[in-house]
Amino acid sequence: MGREQDDMLRRGIGMTSQRTRERLIQRLYEEGISNAKVLEVIRRTPRHLFVDEALAHRAYEDTALPIGNNQTISQPYMVARMSELLLEAGPLDKVMEIGTGSGYQTAVLSQLVERVFSVERIKVLQDRAKERLVELNLRNVVFRWGDGWEGWPALAPYNGIIVTAVATDVPQALLDQLAPGGRLVIPVGSGEVQQLMLIIREEQGFSRRVLGAVRFVPLLHGPLA
Ligand code: SAH
Repeated sequence: MGREQDDMLRRGIGMTSQRTRERLIQRLYEEGISNAKVLEVIRRTPRHLFVDEALAHRAYEDTALPIGNNQTISQPYMVARMSELLLEAGPLDKVMEIGTGSGYQTAVLSQLVERVFSVERIKVLQDRAKERLVELNLRNVVFRWGDGWEGWPALAPYNGIIVTAVATDVPQALLDQLAPGGRLVIPVGSGEVQQLMLIIREEQGFSRRVLGAVRFVPLLHGPLA
């Protein structure tokens, strides 16, 4: 095998052809994702670079995959759905993400909004995610190592907040850090019973929409080195 070909396979390119990616986009569309910009960004974002080489051949399946430290890269449908919900009322400039993980959802968001502020509690995951985003030249993201239950108060308020781990209840700090009209997309519940919610800061109080059953890893407490 030639060196170039070997390198291509190692990076998973041979197994992640444009056709495979196209099939994923078609599937997301058929499952109800209708925001063309979201679909386009998912089409061009190389998900195989966000998983272990050994899993690269499955990167364009619509499924969550392990990324180490007991965590998973979110399912593409969920990334698309949550992004679409955030953007439903128009473009956003400042978005906070809780749960950077592999950085895949971060990479997608960074191509859809002006600036992303991403909080992760596990240092090694954050470091790897940072490297990937630099490699892809996605520069409008800043990272914080910390506890997402607290958000990132110093840079609040945010027009959008997305949480990619399930919370037992909606963290008060995140509600506090939403700008007027701001939108929070968050899975809430525990164990098998989890619901995706969209919470909007209205002139008076908050509106809540329940969007259906989901499955996420838990939003834990405190940072981890
Ligand atoms: N969107 C990510 C999903 C990662 S899984 C991706 O596509 O790769 C959820 C992530 O939330 C994990 O990385 C986990 O470490 C992180 N997490 C869990 N509790 C957290 C907390 N309290 N603060 C910040 N991150 C948290």
